[in-house]
Amino acid sequence: MTAEPVSTAFLDELRDVTERRRAAFVPLTSAFAGASDGDVARVRAAASAGEGAALGLAHAVHGYAEEAFREVRSVAAVAELLRSAGVPAVVGTHGLATSLRAGLTSHGPDDGTVVDGPTIAILAEYDALPGIGHACGHHLIAAAATGAFLALHRAVADGLRFDGRVLLLGTPAEEGASGKEVLARAGFFDGVDAAIMVHPFGYDVVDHPFLGRRQLRVSYHGVAAHASASPFMGRNALDAVALNYQAVGLLRQHIPPSDRVHGVVREGGDRPSVVPERASVEYYVRSASPATLKDLSRRLEDVAHGIARATGTTAQLDWDAAPFTLPVRTNGPLAARWATHQAAQGRTALAGGVVPEILAASTDFGNISVRIPGIHPMIAVSDPDVALHTREFADVAAGPRGDSAVVDGTVGLALTALDWLADPALRAAVLADFEASGGALDVAGYFS
Ligand SMILES: [Zn+2]
Ligand SMILES: [Zn+2]
Repeated sequence: MTAEPVSTAFLDELRDVTERRRAAFVPLTSAFAGASDGDVARVRAAASAGEGAALGLAHAVHGYAEEAFREVRSVAAVAELLRSAGVPAVVGTHGLATSLRAGLTSHGPDDGTVVDGPTIAILAEYDALPGIGHACGHHLIAAAATGAFLALHRAVADGLRFDGRVLLLGTPAEEGASGKEVLARAGFFDGVDAAIMVHPFGYDVVDHPFLGRRQLRVSYHGVAAHASASPFMGRNALDAVALNYQAVGLLRQHIPPSDRVHGVVREGGDRPSVVPERASVEYYVRSASPATLKDLSRRLEDVAHGIARATGTTAQLDWDAAPFTLPVRTNGPLAARWATHQAAQGRTALAGGVVPEILAASTDFGNISVRIPGIHPMIAVSDPDVALHTREFADVAAGPRGDSAVVDGTVGLALTALDWLADPALRAAVLADFEASGGALDVAGYFS
């Protein structure tokens, strides 16, 4: 028995709306000069010379399909490609065995010598999903980031000069585990002034909304009793969970439309003849801004405590078994540089407001983007109606459209990084935009 097919009427509406907006979209332009034409040409040539190696890396990592914290062969493949180009990489720093760091200055690989100027990081993810492999396309992220870093490295050998430093940072365990937040708390991003990465998707869009996400487990403790002989002596923890699930359902009408709460029952008692002494429900809690996520968190706490009182149980609330993520804050001037370089690759990077904001998930890059300026553009790999986290997406990301995203993503990341290093006016605007959007947040302490 399978459920009836789900109507696609709403998705069809969304697609029509998107197409109308896309037709009217005026491409982003940048007010800044960025790097010189000569340097851009050098980096483009270097990127194209490294294309085969970057695609080889993408295919290898797709095949490994290693889950969060276990990306051993994937990170080794990145490190080996760097080593073969003469760049040493450190694997397993800041508390995560599959993190990676490599650095580059105008003098060549970063040997720790103090250099003048700012530091920009290009981030590489490489974790896959349980059961469905690279259904989020992180192998493409790894390949584009490594390709971009090596393009800059090759261009330096070819005479490119800049002040400052480029880092390639391998950030494991994005899926469900917030690896970037774990690394950030351990100092992985200390001394980094800006961070950029690219993520595959069904559209080219430079500013797609990502919601902040927390996890909440509510465990109720009641009093066990014989469910037939003396139920009046019991206090039912499962009743409390059932009420909690219903109350959260009713709450949904009265929260901002961009908020999400979705849950599963984790424990509901052991046998019908015993009044359940303990039961629990677990939610993912998402919202579009840090402040509204804080509001929603407080309301869920009130729901949990009110029900405990009503049922004679006690509620234990455990937040964020894995570190929470915050919404992505897109840096405007960096986004415009990305869009400029994508246009040269034949891609129109849409701005926010074209692709429906309802198609939103969460990423640990959000936590980096509120510490330092950054962008997390999405690059089209599939048709719009192929969702991330499906087998279909994993397949298409392994084919020619995935390869094309690696090539265009490599160029986009390398040139955006170079623009930022080369153009002090751009750097100042990037910082001003970051400050105007709220400046640096105390992420680790945000909800305490
Ligand atoms: Zn994902
Ligand atoms: Zn992803």
